[in-house]
Amino acid sequence: MSGFIPVNEPSVGNKEKEYLSECIETGWISSEGPFLKKLEADFSAYTGQKYGSCVCNGTVALDLAIKVMKEQYNWRDGDEIIMPSFTIISTAQCCVFHNLKPVFIDSEPLTWNIDTSKIEAAITPKTRAIIVVHIYGLPTDMTPVLELAKKYGLKVIEDSAQAHGLRYKDKICGSMSDISTFSFYANKHITCGEGGMVMTSDEELYEKIKFYKNLAFSKDRFIHETLGWNYRMSNLQAAVAYASFERLEETIKKKKRMGALYTELLKDIPAQLPCPKTPYAENNYWVFGIVLNDDVKFNAKEAMERLKDLGIGTRPFFYPMHLQPVFKKSGIAGNQDLPVSKRLYERGFYIPSGLKLTDEQIRETAQKVISLFKG
Ligand SMILES: *Cc1c(COP(=O)(O)O)cnc(C)c1O
Repeated sequence: MSGFIPVNEPSVGNKEKEYLSECIETGWISSEGPFLKKLEADFSAYTGQKYGSCVCNGTVALDLAIKVMKEQYNWRDGDEIIMPSFTIISTAQCCVFHNLKPVFIDSEPLTWNIDTSKIEAAITPKTRAIIVVHIYGLPTDMTPVLELAKKYGLKVIEDSAQAHGLRYKDKICGSMSDISTFSFYANKHITCGEGGMVMTSDEELYEKIKFYKNLAFSKDRFIHETLGWNYRMSNLQAAVAYASFERLEETIKKKKRMGALYTELLKDIPAQLPCPKTPYAENNYWVFGIVLNDDVKFNAKEAMERLKDLGIGTRPFFYPMHLQPVFKKSGIAGNQDLPVSKRLYERGFYIPSGLKLTDEQIRETAQKVISLFKG
């Protein structure tokens, strides 16, 4: 048998080497340079926003999005931002750092994305924005989100960290909001190890993003009216990200093929597999998640331990935001009961989904997953 199958092995190749050498030969290694310009222009054009600004990761991309919106639209401390509970901490902490209150909504059982039918009841006079997170390869159903935003005058942010090139009807994720954010972390569809991008079609927001990511330098460079951060990305990172951007459609095709193969091999296990398509989108299987049926005697944690012993890497699903100790302690999360996201954590995990995975490894993984349910 082959060795341990990791949950994600990134695919980086000769193009990356070539573009990196170009940076080194030309000396463009810092936060200005041709690959940054090309990546910002081409990836935002591909996605469908006017402007893109590279940053050092997807977490600070969200930070900047909230910072510039709060300033631009005069949001006050304590104003509320609606978001799914089932997401990574980055989506919620950016609000907390800027003294805004995240308001958590449960997930849809079928797609694991925010349950859009539960948003309206959570809107109050203090609500300012909705952050959607396109989860694991299926987009949020944007039509109801955009209708509510219009009806109540709310801004929309798409956390598209997992959704490069993901299609919603005839649109691409990241193009349907006031600001969208991306990550180029090692397991994302476009990667340079660490990196990210903020996109918008609003010139004023874009100017503020560039200002705050670059230490709030002004025309008189070292004279400051306000404070910012150094969230810049380097041209070296952009070179690597650009090479993987050029392969994006190929990457998605490959992920879809892997998803279809897993789906076929695992169709008889007593668990929910990723929903292959909805009326508005096809799954592009950023990762392949599994949610154990309630009558399965073990939970996700035990399944992951047993798979590890069998040489298969896994990752747990997100721990819901409304249950996070940090938010319980600070009173941001009350005693909300969001059973779908809680169950997703308890019963869900994902199996190896990296681009380096071979069909043989997929078959071996599937066979070991199936073996969990025997005897
Ligand atoms: C990966 C991810 C992020 C954070 O991106 P980093 O580059 O790791 O900081 C934010 N949101 C979601 C939904 C993610 O999957």
